[in-house]
Amino acid sequence: MENKILKVGFIGIGVMGREMSINLLKAGYELTVYDIREEALEDPIRFGAKAAGSPKEVAQISDIIITSLPNPEALEEVVLGKDGLLEGARRGCILIDTSTVSPSTIRKVASAVKDRGVDVLDAPVSGGVSGAKAGTLSVMVGGDVEVFERCLEVLRVFGKNIYHVGELGSGDAVKLVNNLMSLVNVVTLSEGMVLGVKAGIDPKTLYNVCKVSTGRSQALEWKLPNKISKGRFEPGFTIDLTCKDLGLILAFGREIGVPLFVTSIAQQVYELAKAKGLGRLDNTAVITLFEEAAQVKVRY
Ligand code: NAD
Repeated sequence: MENKILKVGFIGIGVMGREMSINLLKAGYELTVYDIREEALEDPIRFGAKAAGSPKEVAQISDIIITSLPNPEALEEVVLGKDGLLEGARRGCILIDTSTVSPSTIRKVASAVKDRGVDVLDAPVSGGVSGAKAGTLSVMVGGDVEVFERCLEVLRVFGKNIYHVGELGSGDAVKLVNNLMSLVNVVTLSEGMVLGVKAGIDPKTLYNVCKVSTGRSQALEWKLPNKISKGRFEPGFTIDLTCKDLGLILAFGREIGVPLFVTSIAQQVYELAKAKGLGRLDNTAVITLFEEAAQVKVRY
């Protein structure tokens, strides 16, 4: 597919969608955008995007439609709801969902649009807003290989490490596994660092030693120095989205018969943070619960 003639639609211009849509415009794609928040469209419009009034309108003029939505309910609404994609989609168009949803949701959506001749890929991403901005996201794609190959050029605009991981739903399964490990790690990092600081160890010393020892993780190596140590809790990846993902992960485990002990505890910790009004903050703000309990702060 020659990118200059390919018409792309983008629905969900949030933290991630803003950066991904702007990168598509910079790469020369003709882009039509939609979000329920009109103000979200301002930035892509400034870079040359056209605004649509509904997902249906996006679908009527797009060869490829990319979604970046907060949860499964929003995806179902956008595709199956009134004035949704299903009402406007043209035979042969492709829906690429980059949201984190459950494998069963993407399969439900795909089976609803199949008769209309729409192909679907689940292509959730990892790498946060900085990865979205730099075009270096990891993308884990499920679906038909031939459809995947047709979309590679578009995926390369925002993805650096792009993997076809299996049939439809596999991308979301891999993403849920990845997030299980990364979200639990933020809680163990928080617990460990507060223990160390309460014991009188300098937090920078803990960081220096653990980052070259077996306690290291992406949470320790990146989130500790860049977010926690500076007390910078603006998102990034919010506690609200973290609770959403952990809910999806636990439901996925239940659905396929896998108990998830540590994940359940981490979920309750984040739910407490949400109940205390921290939902819109970055998920590293969960450390403040441990800091409050121990009466210390992990800052340097
Ligand atoms: P966000 O909440 O910032 O953006 C979602 C956007 O969707 C918002 O602009 C919202 O107005 C819009 N929206 C909601 N319902 C809609 C509807 N019915 N129709 C049209 N637009 C609608 O979320 P985000 O941080 O950009 O994340 C988007 C997806 O990517 C989520 O599924 C998230 O789990 C995943 N993700 C996020 C990150 C991150 O670091 N933020 C990283 C990887 C994956």
